[in-house]
Parts: sequence; structure tokens; C-alpha cells
Amino acid sequence: MNKLNHIFNLLRISTNFWFKREFCGYFPIRIWIELSSRCNLNCRFCVNKNLPAREKGDMDIGLYTKIIDEIAGKVFDVNLFHRGEPLLNKNIIPMIAYANKKGVRTRIHTNATLLSPELDRKMIMAGLDLISFSFDGFTKEEYERNRDGAIFEKSLANIIDFLKVKKDLKSRKPCTIIQVIQSGETLSGNEKLGQERAEQNRAKKKRAGQKRAFLGNFRGLPLDKIVIRKPHNWGGLLAIDKINGETRETREVAEGANIEVKIKAGVKTEVKPDVEAEAEAKAGAEAKAGAEAKAGAEKYACCTFPWYSLTVFYDGRVFLCPQDFEGKICLGDVSREKIEEIFNGRIIRDMRRRFRYGTIADIVPCRDCDRVRRKTFMGIPLEYLKIFLRDNLME
Ligand code: SF4
Repeated sequence: MNKLNHIFNLLRISTNFWFKREFCGYFPIRIWIELSSRCNLNCRFCVNKNLPAREKGDMDIGLYTKIIDEIAGKVFDVNLFHRGEPLLNKNIIPMIAYANKKGVRTRIHTNATLLSPELDRKMIMAGLDLISFSFDGFTKEEYERNRDGAIFEKSLANIIDFLKVKKDLKSRKPCTIIQVIQSGETLSGNEKLGQERAEQNRAKKKRAGQKRAFLGNFRGLPLDKIVIRKPHNWGGLLAIDKINGETRETREVAEGANIEVKIKAGVKTEVKPDVEAEAEAKAGAEAKAGAEAKAGAEKYACCTFPWYSLTVFYDGRVFLCPQDFEGKICLGDVSREKIEEIFNGRIIRDMRRRFRYGTIADIVPCRDCDRVRRKTFMGIPLEYLKIFLRDNLME
């Protein structure tokens, strides 16, 4: 898809999002394709370690090529990662190459622990468009605390090697990013809790020094960006709290057996049937007021995901967004249905309607998700707006 078409699509998406239209007469512009849901680490900010064995697997290359054939020329790019480490899929090179051959831009987010100069070279030659290295910590202590199972020096050396290979090949692609999660983060509203201004300033200075020293490792190498991100709560599975700087997993804490029962009962979606949702839509303001009262009058921002993307698990099931880690809102299955149909199917239209009226108080995981509680500009979370504009207009 060329840039002009993409900008036109972005305008259509924005209009549909701002008017909260239920039917979207366009193709999603970004698809998450989970090459693997397995992971070799136990990171603090990730809930992958809690996934049951039945949820762990790698995408089959036949299913992958079917998806790429269907989306080629229609999407802007694909994220070849989701809940696991994508380099664990042994077909990663032919998968990147196939998408590249079909004109689909590919992006990978990796923990960098499995990289080797040979694999680096193959990925670059296969036409990878973007690689983002997840490196949560500027110091050994911070990194290894956040990335349980990884060794600071080894991961750093792997990234440096990758950049050297890119430099040796004189390749313009891929765009290279180091992403660092900002530890000790709190969600909006509590950001200054427990920390005095002076202490904050000292911590800021110290961190700036650590960042400078860390970035010194990449002097003269083709590193394009460093992105500092706030952790997100994976649809409420993780509480990002300033509790001694630690994260804690909370859904069980908050809801105990309730959620356990739902999972055991195999409830993949908690979206109400269409008929019920229709009645709710007709009730309009009444339904909104009712839901707000039920949720302690909490107001939810509208989430952007249902208007522009889809997320495909390794086995072909399609979900509403990449925050739905446990797969609660299942929209369909790419091995049986067309992506176009899934993007305007009954469940996703119901979810758009619910976001329109703010009636998500009974929807897991949306009601617990930090995305609907972050600061927004024109309805879009500020933090993501910058990233979204950069990804879509500048790269
Ligand atoms: S609000 Fe719902 S759809 Fe949006 S990111 Fe969170 S879980 Fe996903």
C-alpha cells in the first residue's frame, strides 16, 4: 500500500472513530500476527508466564501465508509478534521473506536474547522493515530485575552485533529501535503519590546519566530510535502500582474465584448477544447512565483498537486487541473466515457500540484496561498518538 492511500485510510479511520461508527467500510490497517506465544523469559511486566500450556504454540507457515495472501495490498503493516518471543518460530525467516515478497511491511519486537550474527543477517536479507529490541533497563541491575532469565551483557552484545551486521550490509532497513519500559510507573492520577519533588528531580538526573551511559554503547552504529514507554496493564492482568516499585498481578486478587470460573467454563468472550446489545443501543442515554452508575460513575475513554486493527493468535483465532492477553473477546478464526468479515462481524460491532455509549463496565478485559483511563487528545491516548503518527506517517 502506498503512502497516499495509507493517509487516505487514516482519515477514514479517524472519521469512523470520532463518529464511533459501528460498521467500518475499510480494511484494518495493522494486524498483529502471533508467530509464537511461547517465551524463553519470565519478565516482570509480562503475563506470558501465566498462560496455560494449551495457549502456547507457534504459527504454522501454511496459516501464515494464507493470512498474508489475504491482507497483501490492504494493510499498512503487520506486527509479527504478540504474547511470545517471535524468534522462537523456526520459520521466521521464510515468513518475513514471504510478507516482503507480497509487499507487506513487517515489524518484530524481540527480547534480543536469541539473536546471532547469522540470524541477524538472514532477517535483514529477508527484508524486515522494523525491529524493536525490548530492553527494560539502562543498568544491569534494573535490566535483570525486569527481564528475569536474561543477562544484561549478553542481550546488549546481541543488539550491538545486529547493528554491526546492518552496518556491514549497508542496509537501509530495518528501522532499529530500543524500547525501554519506565519502571516504577504509576497510572495517571497517582503519578506524584509518595514521591517528593526533590526526590523526583534527583531520580530524573540519575536516570538521565544512566541513559547517556547506556546509549554510549551504540555510538557509530545505525540505531534509529530509543523509545521509553510506560508499562501497560494487559487489560487489568497486571497492576502498575507504586507498591515498593513492584508490579503485582491482580485480577485474581481483585476478583478471586469469579474469573477462575469464567476461564474454566471456557468463556472466550463476555460480550452480550446482539439482540441484547441492540436493545441497549436503543436505550442510548439510559443505558449509559445505568452503566456509569454500576461502575461507580467511572467514565471510560473510547479505545481506538476496534476501529483500525485486529490481533491473530498463533492458532488463527482473532481478537479485538493485543491487550486481550487471555483471549476473552474472540471475534472469529482466520482459518475459517475472511478478515474483512471478522472486522465487521457481530461481536466487534457490538464492542464499537459499547465504546460509543461507554457501556463497558461488564466487559473483561476492557473495564480493567489502562487504555481507557489514560490522558487523551481528540479521543486518542496521548502516549500512543505520538507513536501512531510516527509509525504511520514518518517511517
Ligand atoms: S480497552 Fe479493551 S479493546 Fe481497548 S486495549 Fe483495552 S482491552 Fe483492548
